[in-house]
Amino acid sequence: IKGQAKQLTRDVNPPRQAAVLGAGIMGGGIAYQCAWKGIPVLMKDINDKALTLGMNEAGKLLNKKLEQGKIDGLRLSEVVSTIHPTLDYTGFERVDAVVEAVVENPKVKRAVLAELESQVGADTVLASNTSTIPISLLAEGLQRPEKFCGMHFFNPVHRMPLVEVIRGRQTTDETTARVVAWARKMGKTPVVVNDCPGFFVNRVLFPYFAAFSQLLRDGADFRRVDKVMEKKFGWPMGPALLLDVVGIDTAHHAQTVMAEGYPDRMAKSDRDAIDVLFEAGRYGQKSGQGFWRYQ
Ligand code: NAD
Repeated sequence: IKGQAKQLTRDVNPPRQAAVLGAGIMGGGIAYQCAWKGIPVLMKDINDKALTLGMNEAGKLLNKKLEQGKIDGLRLSEVVSTIHPTLDYTGFERVDAVVEAVVENPKVKRAVLAELESQVGADTVLASNTSTIPISLLAEGLQRPEKFCGMHFFNPVHRMPLVEVIRGRQTTDETTARVVAWARKMGKTPVVVNDCPGFFVNRVLFPYFAAFSQLLRDGADFRRVDKVMEKKFGWPMGPALLLDVVGIDTAHHAQTVMAEGYPDRMAKSDRDAIDVLFEAGRYGQKSGQGFWRYQ
């Protein structure tokens, strides 16, 4: 962990206008959170349907607040009107900061970032919401790698307080400070971390998941483990439900990255519960079944 986010943000303003690439689970959530906290945001996707889904999700969250009496209709339409869904880069020349949240594929991300860099002003900061790809690797094809860093949100974005701000080899203090200020303005708690496999959170989470898998191998029942961790230990949820929320496919991919990154600690000797569920196509909440069933 590289230092105190608080010190870095002194005299640094959050973006007046931001943008998000990708209107999926994460991109849609990030766009909503920006708008909710008063930052107008462009939300770009290559798929019209994804833009509609992203806008619908924002609408659902705001309607819930309306039903709870936390906002009125005027505030609802104000917030919605500050999210601008788009299929092209119109308006990107005016944004101060952009985070990409497209698919977790280094080739796609690098191509998207290079294209994005050619569409924004020279002073715009760029960030990636990657969960696993090294920031310095994504920065390799950029003209201005010093203006690029990781900005790792957690799912669901509107509820999870933490944002990891990841410094690549060439990321400057100024870029880090601007992204920290952005995360704070979004009501989040940024933590600045070095670029390494798993960044901070997944270095803590995946050994926990590995210990959980070991318990199952030793004969434990996942339902009881979840119950004990949640009801008796007091965590918001147990490891099986957490894996279902994260997505078994996402966890499977991240587990591979961790095993490659830390062969001394995270290498696996045989198949575990995550492999078995992944191979069965049981991806967790998103597919209706993981450890638990969702109907
Ligand atoms: P998703 O599949 O829900 O959304 C990805 C979106 O990107 C899709 O709508 C797709 O149409 C769009 N897209 C693809 N190529 C594009 C392009 N060139 N330009 C614009 N949009 C494009 O994925 P997600 O779960 O939101 O994940 C997005 C990123 O966030 C990934 O890097 C992932 O690792 C990371 N992440 C995901 C989670 C999670 O729990 N889902 C948590 C933290 C970080």
